[in-house]
Amino acid sequence: MFRRGVLAGMVMGSFAGGRGGLSALEALAESLPVSERMPALFIGHGSPMNAIDENSFVQGFREIAKTIPRPKAILCVSAHWFVRGTKVTAMQTPRTIHDFGGFPQELFDVQYPAPGSPELARLTAEMVKPQQAEFDQSWGLDHGAWTVAMHLFPKADIPIVQLSVNRDLPPEKHFELGRRLNGLRDRGVLILGSGNIVHNLRLVDFQGLQRKNYGFDWAVEAREFVNGCLKRGDYRPLFEYAKQGRAMQLAVPTPEHFLPLLYVLGLEHDPAKHHLFNDELLAGSLSMTSLRIG
Ligand code: ZN
Repeated sequence: MFRRGVLAGMVMGSFAGGRGGLSALEALAESLPVSERMPALFIGHGSPMNAIDENSFVQGFREIAKTIPRPKAILCVSAHWFVRGTKVTAMQTPRTIHDFGGFPQELFDVQYPAPGSPELARLTAEMVKPQQAEFDQSWGLDHGAWTVAMHLFPKADIPIVQLSVNRDLPPEKHFELGRRLNGLRDRGVLILGSGNIVHNLRLVDFQGLQRKNYGFDWAVEAREFVNGCLKRGDYRPLFEYAKQGRAMQLAVPTPEHFLPLLYVLGLEHDPAKHHLFNDELLAGSLSMTSLRIG
């Protein structure tokens, strides 16, 4: 399914054929030299409180960070930037966005002052062609990005860029965008999808928040279905998640938390070497299942 030669050719083609590709490549060569291929992560981010709480999930974030080389930069695809259009943050200093309400002041006080990377933004826009990407100066780091990144890289010293989840694209196009971004991994860029595979906020059982690995029957079924697809490297059913019956319909009532997974699956990898972690259900209707590839 993933042939290295074909994909390498596609990536090279995007540099050679794209207008302005050479200058983007030059900028990249300066700031992001060729390196060993980086793994990539999909992280189930869960509650914003994970930024300040201590629990097994944030321990899982920290543990996985120890298993990957230090990236030169991070490209994050977060569920919380679900907008019209493919956009990429291009500012030098992204702000920490507290895009939630009803949480303690302590959480609003958290800052994640990692720098941006206009070079990585330019390169990302180059690589997703022919999809047009718009450079954004107004977003920053939403909580899908910073509540995770602060556990992975607590020093906030690695440049980070966000790529929006374009709400106008069907699932297979998100997978395809991921595929086009594969070459970034050979430049030391960590591609980080952040969402939640099972994510039905309307049905959350707040009384059961402390129960370990607690999911409703349909959530258990949806988790098994998705994990089965991951194990087999059979991703087509995931593009058609809405046609997979009631369990998946309840697990993915809206697409934004699910789609970041498809960017990671679109990257070249061997499904036999998938590493799942934090693979637990939470509060009945959420899952924290996370994945490292490569
Ligand atoms: Zn979220």
